[in-house]
Amino acid sequence: LNKQPVNLKELICETVKMLSARAQEKGIALTMAIPDDLPEVPGERGFLEQVLINLLDNAVKYTLSGGIIEIGALVNGKEIKVYVADTGIGIPEESLPRVFERFYRVDKARSRDMGGTGLGLAISKHIVEAHGGKIEVESDQEGSTFSFILPR
Ligand code: ATP
Ligand code: MG
Repeated sequence: LNKQPVNLKELICETVKMLSARAQEKGIALTMAIPDDLPEVPGERGFLEQVLINLLDNAVKYTLSGGIIEIGALVNGKEIKVYVADTGIGIPEESLPRVFERFYRVDKARSRDMGGTGLGLAISKHIVEAHGGKIEVESDQEGSTFSFILPR
């Protein structure tokens, strides 16, 4: 890993811009909650961008029209936490421990129509852990929140 100071706020803004047209077409509101003084984190920008794209891509893919997605970041002691919260279809409890596995998809029939391979989250977990961080998911019928922490 070639770690450099990464401006996460800027990176998140760029990623949001990349996906905002798709969200808008689907009738999904995409909002950001990031403090202006968010410190930089040591990391490899391109890899962290890939994580953000994967999480936001999923949120847009698995949220219906009229839904809301919030991407936010906050400082917690020596860590920075980034989260992507959606009001999407949710993930059944029994599937939660498996969503970070390679090729795992909750609903095979539905997922086939959606496109993709089931690798996005496995890759994201790999990248976050290579940065010394951790990735997590919480979900219920109201939606899903994926978050990851990175050491400062
Ligand atoms: P790929 O990312 O390779 O294009 P994918 O999106 O299906 O394909 P992952 O990103 O690894 O694969 O996600 C794995 C599975 O977890 C998805 O198929 C989906 O069933 C479920 N999932 C992921 N994110 C969400 C979300 N925000 N809401 C509901 N289900 C989700
Ligand atoms: Mg995905």
